Amino acid sequence: DGLVNRIAAGEVVERPAAALKELVENAIDAGATRIAITLAAGGIDRIEVADDGCGIPAGEIALACERHATSKLPDEAIDAVTTLGFRGEALPSIASVARLTIESRVRGADGWARTVDNGVAVGEGPAAIPPGTRVRVEGLFEKVPARRKFLRSARSEYAACLDIVRRLAMARPEIGFTVEHDGRRALSVPPGEDRPQRVAALTDRALAENSVALDHVREGVMLGGVAGLPTFNRGVADHQYLFVNGRPVRDRLLVGAVRGAYQDMLARDRHPVVALFIDLPGDQVDVNVHPAKTEVRFRDPGLVRGLIVGGLRAALDAAGH
Ligand code: ADP
Ligand code: MG
Repeated sequence: DGLVNRIAAGEVVERPAAALKELVENAIDAGATRIAITLAAGGIDRIEVADDGCGIPAGEIALACERHATSKLPDEAIDAVTTLGFRGEALPSIASVARLTIESRVRGADGWARTVDNGVAVGEGPAAIPPGTRVRVEGLFEKVPARRKFLRSARSEYAACLDIVRRLAMARPEIGFTVEHDGRRALSVPPGEDRPQRVAALTDRALAENSVALDHVREGVMLGGVAGLPTFNRGVADHQYLFVNGRPVRDRLLVGAVRGAYQDMLARDRHPVVALFIDLPGDQVDVNVHPAKTEVRFRDPGLVRGLIVGGLRAALDAAGH
């Protein structure tokens, strides 16, 4: 079973950024208003996520580390799931390939901590922490050389971690986020921002003056956000922030639609800078195609593509491009 768990774990946590994503999503699901992330060596040595969310009752911390234990799917249909997680796989997966410590306290109760080291519970006891949860992941893949060899440099793992946080923070402007890496503050956005403020804070600030706002609807599908003017767009591909029903995604169809909209407007080495928020009824989209949940499946891909290409072109045309 240990081996099976470790193989399965590789699908959920193939690198520090994937583990970090799961932990931050758990903090979001817990109703946190502030999420503090601390990383060492790009998350390879240590990832810590502290939140002020609902906490885990002391008696349920051990369960949370077990496979398919989720508090988020009581008897609802999968379609009705609104939380980011619901498979109960992340914590046990991480715990099977690293040293995982969970400290948690429900408001009005005492705190409790538990440590699982590569699948083996090694200790638990009272924890003196503020209400909320603090999860620490140390030595990811240290005991799984076959996976560890796929890790890249601390620098590129760090870049991937920061990218994940940036996307989640953009999706949830009401939540405050901080990131500290190797003792240095890398990112800080306060709670209570609105979407334009958050997008401006997390992208190039110049984008605010060099972009058009989007606000389009077609057959119940909504397109919002900002699109960089052709003159502003950059020679790097990674300034595309795409969200479907509030979740960051990296979907081929969407990326292709954005490229299609800018076709003939951009020089060869330029890439569009966009933050697009697509919202549509839950039965029109499946955002859980893959455990990493960044691929989506639209019921009517043509409609979505048309909305993006049409919406972007109309907005850019109106801005004189
Ligand atoms: P899932 O998110 O799919 O339910 P996880 O393995 O990520 O599965 O987490 C297991 C359970 O642990 C969650 O359902 C939740 O009850 C609890 N949990 C994990 N992280 C937190 C957190 N930061 N705050 C509160 N509860 C948490
Ligand atoms: Mg989860």
